Amino acid sequence: MRFRCIEDLGDLRGRRAVVRVDLNVPMQDGKVTDKTRLEAVKPTVDALMGAGANIVLLAHFGRPKGERIASMSLKQVVPALSDVLGVGVAFIDHGDPVPDASVTLLENTRYLIGEEKNDPDVAKGFAALGDVFVNDAFSAAHRAHASTAGIAALLPSAAGKTMERELAALNTALANPARPVAALVGGAKVSSKIAVLKNLVTKVDHLIIGGGMANTFLMAKGLSVGKSLAEKDYVATAIEIMTVAKQHACTIHLPSDAMLAKDFKAGADYRIATVNDVADDEMILDCGPASIAHVDDLLVEVQTLVWNGPMGAFEIQPFDTGTNGVAKAAARACRSNRLIAVAGGGDTVAALAHANVVDDLTFISTAGGAFLEWMEGKDLPGVQALFTD
Ligand code: AMP
Repeated sequence: MRFRCIEDLGDLRGRRAVVRVDLNVPMQDGKVTDKTRLEAVKPTVDALMGAGANIVLLAHFGRPKGERIASMSLKQVVPALSDVLGVGVAFIDHGDPVPDASVTLLENTRYLIGEEKNDPDVAKGFAALGDVFVNDAFSAAHRAHASTAGIAALLPSAAGKTMERELAALNTALANPARPVAALVGGAKVSSKIAVLKNLVTKVDHLIIGGGMANTFLMAKGLSVGKSLAEKDYVATAIEIMTVAKQHACTIHLPSDAMLAKDFKAGADYRIATVNDVADDEMILDCGPASIAHVDDLLVEVQTLVWNGPMGAFEIQPFDTGTNGVAKAAARACRSNRLIAVAGGGDTVAALAHANVVDDLTFISTAGGAFLEWMEGKDLPGVQALFTD
């Protein structure tokens, strides 16, 4: 299936495009502290302006849940957005007429109670702001909201440039990957990523499990993990995932060694040992050198890697060693054109930035929930609406 792009929307001269973007930027003292998401809006704005259209931007900001909370007004984003786009951005509230400006930003969509309920009247109100709809917010595409799915059903709609790039990268990684394909899933708990793991074992050739969640799998294999973060109640789930993996010829790779400490704190004393040598008062806080070397070796053979979640407690040094080591191995393989690596999800972006590999990996998605739901194999309503029949 192919999704529609801006170029499929026909002649846009003199028309108005309503564009859903992600402006959920971090702010401090009324100032935007990271402009990455604003920069992601520019390619679509440039393309639409180049095609002769005026633009009305729709976005949410925080979680006001239908209330007009002043600290969540999008008005405060206008100066930084104008600066990044290189064009003065006009601002309107809900119900205001659209001015004759190249780019207009509408107030926080979530000030309207019907936005998150995909209320048809709210969707109609958004659709009335323009002639065509462009969705450029992959990070909001897992929610069927009035400004993502509702409006797409009312206007000719297409993916924006940033969404297009994101969908192309995700497609390359899981829908149509060069094989062998591996997934690396780390992070704290099995319980938060069951659907991800269950889907991946049916799709990938190798599943590398890291972080706290690997401890639950080690327990499932009968090993003692001492005081480590582990979920006894999910041992049965881990066994089920290993069984399904076997049925689908997916090899699961667990850490063979670990960095063990008695305290969960930066600079804690630690020792390196194999995973069958964890004392009752010790915690596995990171994988060990043999496990990093194993992933490095595997990446010689693997052609595509999908990654979510750190290999250890990367926020406290030296327990960032595993995540850094694996990230550097992936970066090396990408740089020498041996590997396509697509990573994403909240903490993963921070972990990869910490490992200094952001520019080396093929694609890093800043979407959190949407990236995970994509890894779960779910249809994302905001994306579904953009497919051609
Ligand atoms: P997630 O949000 O599920 O991707 O989990 C990320 C969190 O898992 C990070 O805050 C890590 O510090 C934590 N984490 C990863 N490995 C471990 C571990 N072995 N023990 C405790 N926490 C861990």
